[in-house]
Amino acid sequence: MPHTLSASQLEELKALLLSHRSELLVQIAQKRENLAPPTADEGGIVQRNVAREVEQALTDIEAADLQRIDYALKTMEDGSYGQCGECGCQIPFERLKIEPQTQHCVACKSRWEQQHHKAH
Ligand SMILES: [Zn+2]
Repeated sequence: MPHTLSASQLEELKALLLSHRSELLVQIAQKRENLAPPTADEGGIVQRNVAREVEQALTDIEAADLQRIDYALKTMEDGSYGQCGECGCQIPFERLKIEPQTQHCVACKSRWEQQHHKAH
C-alpha cells in the first residue's frame, strides 16, 4: 500500500522522532548515573534497592519507547512508515504528529484497549 504522506510531512515526523530520541537517550543516561554509585551505608540498602527497581522499571519503559522510535526511523527508510501494524491502513498525519512512533491506527488501538479492558 503506497503511503500518502508527503516528503515534507515525513521530514517533519522524522525531526520529531530524532528529537524525541535524543531526549530519551539523555534521560536514560541520567538514570543510569543515578543507579551507579552504591555507598557503604547499610541502613539505606533496602531503600536504595526499592529506588533502584523503580528507576529500572522507568528505564525499561524508555528503552521500549526508544525501540519503537528506532523501528519508526527504519520503516521511514524502507517506505513502510505510518502503516498500521494491525490492519495495514495509513495512519493519519495528525495522529503521527502527536505520537510519531505509533504503530497502530486509532481504530485498532482503541479496539485493543477495549479487549484489554474487558479481560480484566
Ligand atoms: Zn489499524
